[in-house]
Amino acid sequence: MMTQDLPGQPDLAYRGHELFLEDVRLRDLAKQHGTPLFVYSKAAMLSALGAYQRGFAGRKVQICYAMKANPALGVIQVFAQAGCGFDIVSGGEMDRVLAAGGQAGKIIFSGVGKTRAEMKRALNLGIACFNVESEAELEVLSEVAVSMGLRAPVSIRVNPNVDPKTHPYISTGLKDSKFGVAHERVVPTYQRATGLPGIRVVGIDCHIGSQITQEGPYLDAVERMLDLVEAIEAAGIAIAHIDFGGGLGINYQGDTPPAAEQLWQKLLALLDARGFGQRQLMIEPGRSLVGNAGVCLTEVLYLKPGVQKNFCIVDAAMNDLPRPAMYQAYHQIVPLQANDQAESNWEVVGPICESGDWIGHDRTLAVQAGDLLAVLSAGAYCMSMASNYNSRGRAPEVLVHGDQSHLIRRRESIADQMQGESLL
Ligand SMILES: *Cc1c(COP(=O)(O)O)cnc(C)c1O
Repeated sequence: MMTQDLPGQPDLAYRGHELFLEDVRLRDLAKQHGTPLFVYSKAAMLSALGAYQRGFAGRKVQICYAMKANPALGVIQVFAQAGCGFDIVSGGEMDRVLAAGGQAGKIIFSGVGKTRAEMKRALNLGIACFNVESEAELEVLSEVAVSMGLRAPVSIRVNPNVDPKTHPYISTGLKDSKFGVAHERVVPTYQRATGLPGIRVVGIDCHIGSQITQEGPYLDAVERMLDLVEAIEAAGIAIAHIDFGGGLGINYQGDTPPAAEQLWQKLLALLDARGFGQRQLMIEPGRSLVGNAGVCLTEVLYLKPGVQKNFCIVDAAMNDLPRPAMYQAYHQIVPLQANDQAESNWEVVGPICESGDWIGHDRTLAVQAGDLLAVLSAGAYCMSMASNYNSRGRAPEVLVHGDQSHLIRRRESIADQMQGESLL
């Protein structure tokens, strides 16, 4: 029997020939809900969160789930019930937190392009903090807050100019990045902030990138941030909380990111050594809480052997799983039922009319039309980036826990898609 290593997904395993997530046989879910289908494990999410909680045990910390990784209400609800706050990047995400039972007082609002309307709503709700990304934004936020008779709690996102050694599209802390305030402008920006009538400085934050697999860039960024905290406080401005952002990578294909628990212990040792160990801390993990908690199930529609390449055409596509097309990302692909038939090499592709619509290059699989496959590590930045390209409805999502499964989003119908459109 051919079964493969399933990197990083501890709650995913073959039992006999059948692939299970927790105690649910994935083939049963595919039959019940159709494919493509996303399935997430609650135990895997809580165990990923547990590594953060253990790493920060005994400290003042607020873990804010960066919900753009996976904004399903059912997923947000799991993290809200586990005590998480939320890192949001739009007004829409704010509404999702509230709809899922999260608390406004635990929301931090990141992003380079917040609108006045989003600021107003966030101020009305009383969110914990605006992570401000530019001096221009600071001015506008102050204006909006003053017009409401309020002061906005603010942290400045600093750009530490550290290379996270990840894909360029998910590097955010380099000098030429659109994110954050440049290192040399940080102290003047804080000084300007304290002079604004609608601003109350509460913290500092940084976020250097995503899918980071080395500890060096993190710890460098932290050192640089602490240098800045010292400089800001020397200028007479108190920094109540320090926010280290997110970005910890996951294992997609033999990647070896540092374990959250160990990384945060190192970070805390560094803070202790410099006298910051008792500060209020924040952290904004996204991918590392959900990425390896999910899979996408898909059915093989057609095999199309060729002269140069063999194509395995599946019913999931780049609109469901955008990461390969967008970042040349790798997702492992395994059968839902292991078999011992002859293997060949396949280009696993979707039905969309784009040559960029591929899920996996040159994969060794024993497949036939009608077989079911699982695309692994699909819990983060898949459904959240899904689109309706080619007028494809977005896939349903199921959350499993033990032997229970809950449909947390039904399949999008064509009526859903056309709703809101009108003929001339
Ligand atoms: C996307 C993002 C995160 C989360 O990044 P991950 O790599 O998913 O952990 C955290 N903070 C900010 C500001 C972000 O934009």
